Amino acid sequence: RAKQQGQTRSCVFDAVMHQSAQGRLALERDLRQALKDEAFELLYQPIVRLPDGELTGFEALIRWRKPDGSRVFPGEFIALAEETGLINPLGDWVLREACRQIGQWQRNEGAEQDFYISVNLSSVQFFQANLIETVRSAMSEHSVQPGQLKLELTEGILVDDNPQIVDRMRQLLAMGCGIMVDDFGTGYSSLSYLQRFPLEVLKIDQSFTAKIKESTGLHLVRAIISMAHALELGVIAEGIESEDVAHCLAGLGCELGQGYYFARPLSADQAGRCFESPQAAIGAHQKGHH
Ligand code: C2E
Ligand code: MG
Ligand code: MG
Ligand code: MG
Repeated sequence: RAKQQGQTRSCVFDAVMHQSAQGRLALERDLRQALKDEAFELLYQPIVRLPDGELTGFEALIRWRKPDGSRVFPGEFIALAEETGLINPLGDWVLREACRQIGQWQRNEGAEQDFYISVNLSSVQFFQANLIETVRSAMSEHSVQPGQLKLELTEGILVDDNPQIVDRMRQLLAMGCGIMVDDFGTGYSSLSYLQRFPLEVLKIDQSFTAKIKESTGLHLVRAIISMAHALELGVIAEGIESEDVAHCLAGLGCELGQGYYFARPLSADQAGRCFESPQAAIGAHQKGHH
């Protein structure tokens, strides 16, 4: 089709393609350098009990700190990191850093309290040959106890019938790493995987949470929660932005949630202060950054 539209059109198209290939190369080069410089940072978003906001744990969310002080969001670099394989060293860093933080909180602010950090695992990383070893050594280096590290996987991994997936999950579970399904409801998989895999929690995607004030949205969220409970899975609602929505979810029996209403993703120092009072997470959204 581009051919039919003549030379000019296809020259412009080539120029755009070329530019974006260069842009990708530059991004890849910068990512490699950032890995060497350890220019990444984890922010921690509280996961709280509904509706009162009592802290139960945190989700770790990666940011890339640029030399000029700006922060780059994962949406801008995770996909390229996956394509180039850089996600493996990057993901290893995230696991070790989260475990280091667990160890530090356990010795200090969080000593009196049960808590966990959940880490997002890319599917590329899940299939990495030495994943189990990486998790095991990160946990033991920082004396992480069973239940303190959880892993978030997207439905993409769960469509596969590959028996290795179940094996791998069992090994992770045996180490005390519960597995959550992230962005539940946005994948294309059948629901049968929910029975096939040893899962702990469904995280309702924020696109559903956002529509809970509409009647079809409400029906959908109610159905997800009752299905999760029938399968003896926990439920976390993502993207809670108002008190109304928190109460509505609690009324539907959703026990856990996270979102800007309770707290934005916080720096490790800010997150550490959430241990001071059981409901410190509420209102932290005024102090947090992105
Ligand atoms: P996710 O795991 O579903 O994380 C939730 C995203 O929603 C985060 O975006 C979070 O900042 C944002 N969020 C939290 N509360 C609210 C709210 O009330 N309203 C709205 N509109 N958004 C909210 P973020 O930090 O930009 O992360 C985006 C995605 O990047 C994550 O989605 C996850 O898939 C991926 N990601 C983040 N950190 C890592 C990581 O360390 N490794 C890997 N592989 N992926 C990561
Ligand atoms: Mg997540
Ligand atoms: Mg999610
Ligand atoms: Mg998401």
